[in-house]
Amino acid sequence: MGGNNSTCNTGNYWGFHSPIHFLIMDFFSSITTLPLVGPHYKNLLELLEIYTIRDLLYHFPSRYEDYSTIKTISNLIVNDKVTVKGEVAEIKNIYTGGYSKLTTLKLIDSTGSVACIFFNQQFLTRTIKKGMTIQIAGDVTAYKGKPSFVSPDYEMIESESYIPIHTGRLVPIYPETARVSSKWLRKKISLVLNTQQFNDLDLLPLNLSDLKDLNDLSHALRQIHFPKDLHEVALATNRFAFEELFTTQLLGLVKKQQWQSRGLAKKMRVAGNDLLNFITSLPFELTKAQLRVCGEVLEDLAKDLPANRLIQGDVGSGKTVVATLAMYIAYKSGVGSVFMAPTEILAQQHYNTIKVIFEKLFSIAPISLITHHFKSKNTPNTPSILIGTHALLYNPSLYKNIGLVVIDEQHKFGVTQRNKILSFVTAKHTPHILTMTATPIPRSLCLTLFGDLEISTIYEMPKGRLPVKTFVVPESKRGRGYQWIKEKIVKENEQVYVVCPFVEESQVETLKSVRSATAHFEELKSQWFNDIPMGLIHGRLKSKEKEEIITEFRDGTIKILVATSVVEVGMDIPNANIMVIEGAERFGLASLHQLRGRVGRSARQAYCFLFTTEGKSKNSRLSIMEKSQSGLVLAQKDMETRGPGELYGIKQSGKSKFRFANFSDEKLLEQTYKTAVFISQNLDKYPQTVALLKKLSPDTIGVN
Ligand code: ADP
Ligand code: MG
Repeated sequence: MGGNNSTCNTGNYWGFHSPIHFLIMDFFSSITTLPLVGPHYKNLLELLEIYTIRDLLYHFPSRYEDYSTIKTISNLIVNDKVTVKGEVAEIKNIYTGGYSKLTTLKLIDSTGSVACIFFNQQFLTRTIKKGMTIQIAGDVTAYKGKPSFVSPDYEMIESESYIPIHTGRLVPIYPETARVSSKWLRKKISLVLNTQQFNDLDLLPLNLSDLKDLNDLSHALRQIHFPKDLHEVALATNRFAFEELFTTQLLGLVKKQQWQSRGLAKKMRVAGNDLLNFITSLPFELTKAQLRVCGEVLEDLAKDLPANRLIQGDVGSGKTVVATLAMYIAYKSGVGSVFMAPTEILAQQHYNTIKVIFEKLFSIAPISLITHHFKSKNTPNTPSILIGTHALLYNPSLYKNIGLVVIDEQHKFGVTQRNKILSFVTAKHTPHILTMTATPIPRSLCLTLFGDLEISTIYEMPKGRLPVKTFVVPESKRGRGYQWIKEKIVKENEQVYVVCPFVEESQVETLKSVRSATAHFEELKSQWFNDIPMGLIHGRLKSKEKEEIITEFRDGTIKILVATSVVEVGMDIPNANIMVIEGAERFGLASLHQLRGRVGRSARQAYCFLFTTEGKSKNSRLSIMEKSQSGLVLAQKDMETRGPGELYGIKQSGKSKFRFANFSDEKLLEQTYKTAVFISQNLDKYPQTVALLKKLSPDTIGVN
């Protein structure tokens, strides 16, 4: 390929009659730096997540319209998708008296003439004049028996050297928003491509031999936006796929280096006796997998290099106890721990279970609960164990002598929240971090999305658990389903969760979701379960109310707990064995699996019913749930259908970082990783890569 940057110098300007001269000094400057882009467009472009000039350049086409076939007028055939070039013989507005206003244009070339009809575009007569040379592109239709164009695309050809961008080629079609059309974007992007050099904006160290087959950025940008053919698109795609993976991996590696160079961690050694005491205080025997992961964590803690470890394990695999051991060891070593959970219910539950364990080990359990609604009376001065929700983020004064930070269900927290908690820990020691997730991470993603973490996996479930029998229940069988459940409750004293579909996808529970859950509760109570004690729980209840309802459910007074998806994460009530999910089609597989994981926590057979308004046969996505109990299989399926963004919370508010990267391309993943490792070990030799990385992720780099 070689660096053919000649486009800028030969006078061949896409879409421009005369070259406009301006030089962009900083591609990270606001989009308003561009000529004719003011505050109005700035606001509109924000909807497309375009803030800077670089964002504009990285706003890639979602597809291309193939207008590359160019024909003369006499050769036009109905149903052709073509471009014709000609002279405007006539253009006029026609007043039909109807709602739509017509503009007709007659185009001629040396072979004949063709009619073009536009609806509601009367302004055209102001810009397109008789005698002008223009190109028309679109589908040829039959109008009054003759080949014609209806509402075609058009482009004025202002000179011989003009290179068209809207017609006569593969034309890029972009993600658009109201009043920012693909045509507008094409013009702006071609302006930047025509006038600038991008050598300074290239993140890839292309002088490395492994990268020698990749196009440089200038080339790739031109190929992706205004390709000559699909082969060029493929070449550009290769380059950007490489760039996406490489950038993410390098960031992970750099983050890890930074974390480790922040300062020393407290070395925590545990006496054999203490360890034995802890293990014997548990109400169960640890599984082999738990023991292995405990060992990995103990090794981390024994070092003064601050660890950042992710424990992944399917729902119910018993991650909490591993974290509990770590906190116990921290305490024994004279430093405190913070344990953050995503919901109040979960924080409360962890507090209760951990307290029970510690009460066997200490005369006073050194543990406090901190949520927005609840704060232990006397916040301890001595190192202790703080368990809480986001409320922990608002109490920096608590962070005295903290040596360990545990974050449960880490994907439920944003990056900023995670960073915030770490920024509090300013004491002598850099804390060790332990995060936990039940969303399994396919191997291919580990190196890329979680490159800054060590990963431990609990691959085994506690003994004696039976797989949860799962059924997709179509609308027509809903009644029979409720009937069966009712019998189970009456005859076998079973307890049931009913999860309502979410109304809007939103991190915080909306009033609308709460209303719909309430309505559903009323309906179930009056129509199906009138003589059965039921409870309703949602995120808008006061924490005291929540606690009461959960306690009643835990002790068996309430038989049916209707809930919004607040129960999704972590709730642990082993007596409840039946899970009903309403509107199951609205949930991702990973969420369904999480919800299902609330049951099957005892030796009794558990059931999960996925109620759906969609017919069963066409819903193969849900029926995977009937076949698979493996969180990993389901996560992989989710990733294939929805991309990794949704699943792992790496979606940058809508726009995925991964437009081209394909996570099943292991060869590429390995290659990019190898390059990222090499660069991370030689950062000083690649100042441009480092500088760009810093601009792309100011949070990560430069915070020492
Ligand atoms: P998760 O990994 O989903 O966070 P938890 O830590 O909440 O799972 O554990 C799920 C349930 O299994 C809890 O009731 C816990 O007490 C129990 N548990 C954990 N480890 C074991 C084990 N080795 N044997 C039996 N039960 C266990
Ligand atoms: Mg858990």
